[in-house]
Amino acid sequence: MRKKYLTKNSFQTKKLGEMIGKKISLTSPFSPKSSEGLVIGLEGDLGGGKTTFLQGFSRGLGIKEKILSPTFIIMRKFKIQNPNSKFKFFHHIDCYRMKKPKGILDLGFKEITSDPKNIVAIEWSNRVQKILPKYSLIIKFELAGKNKRKISLKYGP
Ligand code: ADP
Ligand code: MG
Repeated sequence: MRKKYLTKNSFQTKKLGEMIGKKISLTSPFSPKSSEGLVIGLEGDLGGGKTTFLQGFSRGLGIKEKILSPTFIIMRKFKIQNPNSKFKFFHHIDCYRMKKPKGILDLGFKEITSDPKNIVAIEWSNRVQKILPKYSLIIKFELAGKNKRKISLKYGP
């Protein structure tokens, strides 16, 4: 599956995230194995809109707390309150400062992603490419002007 979007401001990126978050939480379209969690890798330039997208995405999942750029905290965990959601916890990880994939394994990555109740979104996932599950949803963000962003989704081999 491949999909491409062009957003013209950060509000549109948030809305796109919200729509996709809602869809994923209610219909779980990207889970080949029901025995695993869903990993979403976000790649692309600084200022590409990864965090902005996740702010909408988390709202779409039914999370009330605000998503921040986890500059110093590498991982934050949120409870998904919506009782109709297929998932129960959302983990937000930022690998910007991570030198090696081992750093993410030390956070308990394998345990978290092997639990079907979890959605795990990883900013700068290209830094930990080697350890991403084969069936991850990869979202790429490219700058296409001051306020324009190309956002592409890819799922599966
Ligand atoms: P990242 O997490 O990829 O580094 P952020 O989401 O933190 O990026 O920052 C994106 C920045 O770009 C914000 O300052 C936002 O206001 C700005 N921006 C401008 N246009 C867009 C757009 N179309 N989508 C997302 N962010 C945009
Ligand atoms: Mg960010």
